Amino acid sequence: MRYLVCRPKIAVLLLVIGLLASGAFAQRRIRDLKPTVILISLDGFRSDYVDKYGPPTLKSLARTGVRAKWMIPSFPTKTFPNHYTLVTGLYPEHHGIVENNVYDFGTVFSMSKLAEVENPRWWLGEPIWVTAERQGQHTGAYFFPATATPIEGILPEHYRRYNGRVPNDLRVDTLLSWLDVPQKERPTFLTLYFSDTDDAGHEFGPDSEETKYAVWNVDRNIGRLVEGLRKRGIDRQVNVIIVSDHGMAAVDPRNAVFLDDHFNFDLADKILWTNEIVQIFPKAGNLDAIYSKIKDIDHTTCWKKQDIPARLHYNDGPRVAPIVCSSEEGWLTTSHARYKSWNDGQDEPFRTRGAHGYDNKYASMRATFIANGPAFKRGYVAEPFANVEVYNVMCKILALKPAANDGDLKHVRGMLR
Ligand SMILES: [Zn+2]
Repeated sequence: MRYLVCRPKIAVLLLVIGLLASGAFAQRRIRDLKPTVILISLDGFRSDYVDKYGPPTLKSLARTGVRAKWMIPSFPTKTFPNHYTLVTGLYPEHHGIVENNVYDFGTVFSMSKLAEVENPRWWLGEPIWVTAERQGQHTGAYFFPATATPIEGILPEHYRRYNGRVPNDLRVDTLLSWLDVPQKERPTFLTLYFSDTDDAGHEFGPDSEETKYAVWNVDRNIGRLVEGLRKRGIDRQVNVIIVSDHGMAAVDPRNAVFLDDHFNFDLADKILWTNEIVQIFPKAGNLDAIYSKIKDIDHTTCWKKQDIPARLHYNDGPRVAPIVCSSEEGWLTTSHARYKSWNDGQDEPFRTRGAHGYDNKYASMRATFIANGPAFKRGYVAEPFANVEVYNVMCKILALKPAANDGDLKHVRGMLR
């Protein structure tokens, strides 16, 4: 007490610091919000995880908003193709990111090659942040594939180069801070991306405790976002759309098909591998020689490009490989050399893991769609729809004229008020 009497200025300072720390000064409220969308991607968040694991915030947002029974991912059910479909409304055959690995310009695009990822030549079509910026709106992306690439020469006003080590809460808090500016500078379209559920699903499988923990973890991050919006008085004014790119299947790595048991790789100019989808580019004149050897093997389906079923929207577009092999759910299509290097160094090489990239006909590949906000009906359960529809929904909310795309708003208009 004597301290306070003798040092009144310090006492006042301490009091102010104490009040700040206790949150007595409320977050400045936002009273002039324009229609706003926050698109949150939960990588590998399978459509049944909300019911299976019961994350409270997501359950609440679904109950008081819109929830799709499931969302149909595009083929192949991989991360980059589907993220870019969500924001362009284009199937991968049309937006050019036909797999996580793409062969064109005499080189290979992959997620780990930053120079290629940030080179706009790969990214066809128009993502919604470009649509918005071109039409005079502001955008901010705390991670989403392609948001650090100047597509049509345009970057989101706020963006970050991807770094998976950035804590999720920092992503949330930074995004919230982008809203704390005058209306004419404030972003109307924002993104967040969390990889936790994909990481855990791959490492431990979709049915593991670890994946449940990851689901609850991202749920807590979304809860932090909702609380940040509430403090600003805009939790009922922002439209939050939560999506995933694809689901996750349990895989026993002993279930492997080896393509070098069937044809000589010297016949191919290039083979791009994941375990779930293989892209084969034959040397000139060798297409039939290769295809005849692999057209009837078990546990993987190989097509010539023009014979890929129309339902997969994958037989058009110059970057789709002349031969594509798609593994049966839970199986790997690989080579002996790849398989050996993949399993070497693993503590338990043959334990169950999770994978995606399979045919989108499998229930395990189904994606999540939850939306909540003034644009959406309350308590509405939407029939399954393809993820090409999300772009038009977001453009409608933001009053943007959409670029040409493969979606049709009439398929999803029922979820909107
Ligand atoms: Zn993944």
